Formats: sequence, C-alpha cells, structure tokens
Amino acid sequence: MAKIPMLNPIVEMDGDEMTRILWQQIKDELICPFVELNTEYYDLGLRHRDETDDQVTVDAALATQRLGVAVKCATITPNAQRVEEYNLKQMWKSPNATIRAILDGTVFRAPIITSNIAPAVRFWEKPITIARHAYGDVYKASEMAIPGAGRVELVYTAENGETERKLVHEFKGAGLIQGMHNTDASIRAFAHSCFRYALETKQDLWFSTKDTISKTYDQTFKLIFQEIYDRDYKADFEKNGIEYFYTLIDDAVARVIRSKGGFIWALKNYDGDVMSDMVSTAFGSLAMMTSVLVSPSGVYEFEAAHGTVTRHYYRYLKGEETSTNPMATIFAWTGALNKRGELDGNEALCAFAAKLEAACMAAVEEGCVTGDLAALIGPTAKKLTSIEFLRNVRARLEN
Ligand code: NAP
Ligand code: MG
Repeated sequence: MAKIPMLNPIVEMDGDEMTRILWQQIKDELICPFVELNTEYYDLGLRHRDETDDQVTVDAALATQRLGVAVKCATITPNAQRVEEYNLKQMWKSPNATIRAILDGTVFRAPIITSNIAPAVRFWEKPITIARHAYGDVYKASEMAIPGAGRVELVYTAENGETERKLVHEFKGAGLIQGMHNTDASIRAFAHSCFRYALETKQDLWFSTKDTISKTYDQTFKLIFQEIYDRDYKADFEKNGIEYFYTLIDDAVARVIRSKGGFIWALKNYDGDVMSDMVSTAFGSLAMMTSVLVSPSGVYEFEAAHGTVTRHYYRYLKGEETSTNPMATIFAWTGALNKRGELDGNEALCAFAAKLEAACMAAVEEGCVTGDLAALIGPTAKKLTSIEFLRNVRARLEN
C-alpha cells in the first residue's frame, strides 16, 4: 500500500527519558509504515538543550509559528538534581514555559474516554476539556516574607513618574505578601483562544473566576471575556447552537460534578493547574489525557499531559521491558497529523489519524492495555508492555 503523503511539514520536538523511547517506537511502529512522514525535527532532549544554550527550544517555538502545527514529546524541566545528573551549564527554564512565552495562548486538556474505564464521577458521559490560561498570576509573582511590624503598600509608577499607592496591610508582626500580575493583552488572547476552540469543537464554553471577592483582578477577566464574546463570537455561537456561560468558581465546581460533561471549562492559570489534575484523575489516568496549546494566532502544539515518566526510564535502563502507557503521546501525534491534514486539505492524512485513534481505543476497550490501565480495569485486562501494546495497535491498523 502506498504511504500517505504530507504536503507540508509539522514541527517535531523530541524529548527525554521514557517518553523519548516511546517517541521513536511510536514513529517506527505506527506512523512511518503508513505515512510519508514530513517533519522539521528539533531535539529538545536535555543534553541538546544544554549544548545549544536552550536555543533549540526557541527555534522550535519559532518554527511552530511558521509552520502552524507542532507535536512535542515530554521534556525534563531541570532542577538542582538534574543539573548534577546531566552536568548542565545552568538550570534551564521549563521548555513549555519558553514555548508558551513565545506562542502565548491557552492549554486545552481533555481526557481520552473509553467504555471500560468508568470515571470516578458517575454522571460524566463525555469529556470535560480544561482550558488553562498559561500566563501570569501566581506563576510570575513576587513574594516577600515580612520579618516584623511595618506597612506594606502597592506602588505603581507611571512612565511620566506619577505614582499611585494602595495599602496592602499594616503588619503588627511577621507575615507574608505576594504581588502578582496579568496583562489585558494576555487575557484577551486567552479569551480568543477559548472562544475559537469552542467553535471548532462545537462545545459549550464555561468560564469561572472568583470575581465576587477579587473585584478588580478576577472581575477584569470576566469583563474582558464578556466584551469579546458579545462583539466577536456571540453570533457564531448561536449559529452553532453552543453557549458561553460565566459563573462563580464555587458554583462551577458544583455544576461540573453534577454535569454529563461535554464542554470546555476555562480557568485562570492556578485554577486550571489544579482542576486539570482533578478532572484527569477522576477520568482515570494522566496517561489518558491529551493536551494542546492553541495560540491566539491559531498555531497548534500537541503534547501528552504527563511527564517523562522517570521511574520507568530508570527501570528501562536496567534492561527491564516497561509497561508505560503511550496513549497520550500517540494522541499528540494524531492531533498534529489531523490538524496538518485539515490545514492542507489532506483528507487521507485526517482519515489515518482517525483510524490510528480508533485502533488504540479498540485495543484498550478489549482490555489489551499497559499496567496503569490494567490496574483500573481489573482482572479482565491483559497487561502488555509498551512495545506489545504498540504492536497490538499496529496489527489492528494493518487490518
Ligand atoms: P510523570 O513523568 O508524569 O510521572 C509520574 C508518575 O505517573 C509515573 O512515575 C507513573 O507512575 C505515572 N505515569 C505518568 N505517565 C505515565 C504513563 N504514560 N504510563 C504509565 N504511568 C505513567 O511526572 P514526574 O515523574 O513528576 O516527572 C518526570 C519528569 O517529567 C520531570 O523531569 C519533569 O520535569 C518532567 N515533566 C514534563 C512535562 C512536560 O514535558 N509536559 C510535564 C510534567 C513533568 P508509576 O511510577 O507509579 O507507574
Ligand atoms: Mg499541575
């Protein structure tokens, strides 16, 4: 059978540890036998990031802006222990943070749902997609321990030198303060990404913050979303029969639990961080969670939501066959190939991506799974190693 051609390349960002091993195996077993794979390759493995002074991460992000679609393998975010382990020149920043700073936008995370893994919340029938704002707030905050009694103020100095002050607290003893920020530009980009993604996937969009307590900060998020919705998206939402719905975060949490799923839940940076772990765990496993960064300019970067699975890698290095779940990484590939196909009008490529996903789902639904899912499914499951799972899926694809 002739391989499916790709008219334009996608950006391929290789990564680290166990996911780097899976990356190559997925390409060898499931993609290259069927597709004339066309990628611009960037090695974001920690060693190569160090050799290039992390320039490779910047180049990969710029290539993503140029080509429009990227697929990324999980990568190590160095800490002190990694600096020693890899003898690094410095503690490089998180590649995801570097890429997000260049592309801007929103991270959408959705669970892969199968019939034989029941969500912990029995009402949930469809995926809940978390849309996490990926800029600012507590992730870019300045913090200070206050040693003793004294006054803390916020001071804004305008370019013309005028200042505005606001009392934070009159301390009577030791304490803590934190100063965080966001920008209107980033909040607007977040809103546009969410509205576009809702239209593209034809799902309702929910957004929640704590605007009753945070009357300037969270309230501004709410007002910007409403303004952009009314001006740019309301008509299209109505035409597509979907709705935009704002509610206080406490109310949203209660409604999410009672819902059937099937919507996008937009959240500020911290809320999205926490809620995506809660939602993914309730749906079964981090290894069954897809993740895509959508920039306001409409560029897509697909990845798995989990990390490099270090514990399995160390076992792999000792010569053990591991049973690491490749589903989320395969779905990162299918997401990217499908998006490339859509943009290029390459129906065969889109159809291949759909078939590969269906083959993976069939394997899992018949209980042919890696160890993490075998534990969830119970005694009917047949536990496979990673490579056995990939070959099982390949056999299904070939049929
Ligand atoms: P992790 O790689 O997500 O793994 C944590 C644990 O979750 C694993 O030990 C494993 O549990 C389970 N797990 C995760 N993915 C799995 C899969 N595909 N199949 C089976 N089990 C899976 O998180 P981590 O150990 O905290 O981080 C490892 C490295 O990844 C760190 O250097 C971190 O910086 C990096 N990281 C990268 C990204 C990214 O690139 N997007 C995200 C997060 C973390 P058991 O050991 O119990 O089987
Ligand atoms: Mg988290």
